[in-house]
Amino acid sequence: AKARVVVVGGGFGGATAAKYVRLLSSQRVDVTLVEPQDSFVSCPLSNLVLGGSKSIADVTTSYAALESRHGVRRVKDWVKSIDPQKKTVQLAGGQSLPYDKLILSPGIDLMWSGVEGLEAANRSGAILQAWKAGPETVALRRQLESMRDGGVYAIAIPEAPYRCPPGPYERASQVAHYFKQHKPKSKVLILDANQDVTSKGPLFKKYWAEQYKGIIEYRPEHKAVAVDAKANTVKFDVQNDVRADVLNVLPPMRAGAIAVQSGLATANARWCLVDYQTFESTVAKDVHVIGDSIQIAPGMPKSGHMANAHAKVAAAAVVAQLTGLSVAETPLLTNTCYSYVSDKQVIHVASVHLYDAKDKTYKTVPGSGGVSAAPSDIEGVYAWNWAQNIWADSLM
Ligand code: FAD
Repeated sequence: AKARVVVVGGGFGGATAAKYVRLLSSQRVDVTLVEPQDSFVSCPLSNLVLGGSKSIADVTTSYAALESRHGVRRVKDWVKSIDPQKKTVQLAGGQSLPYDKLILSPGIDLMWSGVEGLEAANRSGAILQAWKAGPETVALRRQLESMRDGGVYAIAIPEAPYRCPPGPYERASQVAHYFKQHKPKSKVLILDANQDVTSKGPLFKKYWAEQYKGIIEYRPEHKAVAVDAKANTVKFDVQNDVRADVLNVLPPMRAGAIAVQSGLATANARWCLVDYQTFESTVAKDVHVIGDSIQIAPGMPKSGHMANAHAKVAAAAVVAQLTGLSVAETPLLTNTCYSYVSDKQVIHVASVHLYDAKDKTYKTVPGSGGVSAAPSDIEGVYAWNWAQNIWADSLM
């Protein structure tokens, strides 16, 4: 019988893994992808929807090619539980799927308990996160559109590590870009639990000072602990309360709920520990975890680019193990994170990470990476093409 691989989650990690197990096994391994969404909505570039230069349709891709071109069986459902002993996953719809290898890429779970009152405020639609792109992104854009000129948008950032280190700063830039064109009396407040801008700091700050002077205000060491949706305020552990017209409060994050519930998130009860050579969980045999859910080595961001890279290493290891080949000794991961500071101008940070067999971790290759010297239009072209390419590599 054919070996069976089940992939949970059709995001950057899961979609790529499903496709590459099919490709690397020359279609000899059966792959089932379980994902509840109708189509893939990209978080990368979704901040442009908030800035108004792109629509949600521009960042949405169909799953059709995974099925028609690569023969991935797609099940539109939600995985409720995993039984690593029996090697089955249970779906919310009642079905049970057996596997020889399981690849989990469930992304992140927002830890509502980290900010009192936030879950109820999200449910009522009063305070949104939009940290999983989709309807919330569109709803947050509507809040910005209906805000009066002279109003305040505030984004609260949790302590690192969280999904996409530069993402909140890119978002603040996009909202400021929109305000500058359409609501010039309005303000963007960045309320950061961290001590400083955690990614591309000098580049973002220089651009804000030059282009969004009087619009963006950055306040470090603001750790949100509670919200009051009726009073439109966010409360901090030390600093004074802040009131804003549009609040975008991001709570702390951890591995996707299914990984946490299955007991795989053993690092601080938040992230999944894996053998970095194969991405196999350190606590469950034949369960490989990739993407934002894993505990990362220093310098490795939680990014879509990284999730795509994890997926290829995991897919190669899974196919090797299923077919009796040896796994790659020193896998290599790359990352590039582009950030749009306006609708056209972009900055990037890049890095390369090589597996070190002695220390069993990824180490940043000296001299490999770097950051932009300054924002530029040409990097805007690169960023858009990066997105087209990674969507195609993951899904087509
Ligand atoms: P996801 O892509 O979130 O995929 C997880 C999938 O699993 C989802 O589709 C979900 O529906 C599914 N799922 C979860 N639980 C279950 C279950 N129990 N059963 C079935 N399915 C399940 N990264 C970059 O590289 N570049 C960028 O420019 C960039 N910009 C960003 C901007 C923003 C605003 C944000 C929020 C993120 C950005 N990122 C960027 C980060 C990137 O989106 C994530 O790192 C990436 O999506 C992680 O991939 P993943 O596969 O781990 O999770």
